[in-house]
Amino acid sequence: MAATRTEAEALDATDPLRWLRDEFVIANDGLIYLDGNSLGRLPRRTERRLSSVVTEGWGSGLVSSWDSWVKDPTDVGDRLGAALLGVSGGQTVVGDSTTINLFKLAHAALDAARGQGVVTDRGNFPTDRYVLAAVARARGADLRVVDDPSIYEPRESDGLVSFSAVDYRTGALLDMNDITERAHRVGALALWDLSHAVGVVPLDLDALGVDMAVGCTYKYLNAGPGAPAFAYVRHDLQAAIDPVIPGWFGHADRFAMGPDYVPGPGVARLLTGTPDVLGLAAVDEGLRLLSEAGLGALRRKSLALTDLVMAMVDVIGPEFGLDVVTPRQPEHRGAHVSVRHPQAWEICQALRARNVVPDFREPDLLRMCPAPAYTRFVDAWDGVRVLGEVVSSGAHRSFPTDRRPVT
Ligand SMILES: *Cc1c(COP(=O)(O)O)cnc(C)c1O
Repeated sequence: MAATRTEAEALDATDPLRWLRDEFVIANDGLIYLDGNSLGRLPRRTERRLSSVVTEGWGSGLVSSWDSWVKDPTDVGDRLGAALLGVSGGQTVVGDSTTINLFKLAHAALDAARGQGVVTDRGNFPTDRYVLAAVARARGADLRVVDDPSIYEPRESDGLVSFSAVDYRTGALLDMNDITERAHRVGALALWDLSHAVGVVPLDLDALGVDMAVGCTYKYLNAGPGAPAFAYVRHDLQAAIDPVIPGWFGHADRFAMGPDYVPGPGVARLLTGTPDVLGLAAVDEGLRLLSEAGLGALRRKSLALTDLVMAMVDVIGPEFGLDVVTPRQPEHRGAHVSVRHPQAWEICQALRARNVVPDFREPDLLRMCPAPAYTRFVDAWDGVRVLGEVVSSGAHRSFPTDRRPVT
């Protein structure tokens, strides 16, 4: 463990992923960016790729470029599935937002399941809770909101069980295998939100027998603000899906312009309207870069970085009231560290004023994410050092307590 900055420098010197930081735009080398779980950095290749899609694809090719663009949602989906989800082809599409994909798949799951009850947890991401509640309401189904997803107990009435693999607040990583098995025991389907897991936690959905999954691409996947999300549906569940949003891009023959909706083959029926071509290009570059690095190597570095952050916070924690709430065991945590403090919001502002960028989550959590693709060990070390300076000097007390819109 790096107790000194020199030790952190030594970890960087032997880091097999050292090259990867150079693949990203680092506009200000003095900025310690610990918020890659909210908005990942811009890969240099993405900058070039987007510029070529704009200049050549759009500028020169105009409408003819759609000949290749129409295949992007399924092609990029297949590549994303193979590289990051551990799934074979024909099960993943990229398009729409995580919110919309969750809505579509929650309906699809309940169409297929025997029971009709919807299960989620109190701590799930807001959009997930809102969407799942609305889907249950629309179908007259019961919504069961459990306190702790890790001890989910199946009931015969359960039809859809939906949790986030990594908790956006605490960073806790659930045992997807165990929970999916428990859902299957009562014939329920498991729909996982992988937003905080994809691109940083190796996933093996085919092997786990996961039914459905969604997740966003602008966090660890580095595809940029508002980039389209993915949706995964296991092969054998696809044919029965009668899409709740029957858009023309999910139609079996979209240019027939026929009177009625006929679902397209397989997972492609989940597509809705005209795809976001620029966003898809960015997703493609993001996933290629991560797959070159290898998820195993990314995960190893991520665990080492978060170990360092937690160990350093532990040293100053007792004196200054900082409490790491992220689980310690590697198999139980994602890639960010959450620290509880009554003045977490003021501390977050003080850190940002000192060129360290963590973020804040209500009511009292400071999140620090040393994303392994571009964060050096010295960045993690310096970030926690500045945190120590802030809390020991009380510098955060001069920042406002009222919350402005938070990102
Ligand atoms: C980030 C995140 C989302 C975001 O959904 P959008 O539709 O892209 O705004 C949803 N769910 C979880 C668990 C997230 O972490």
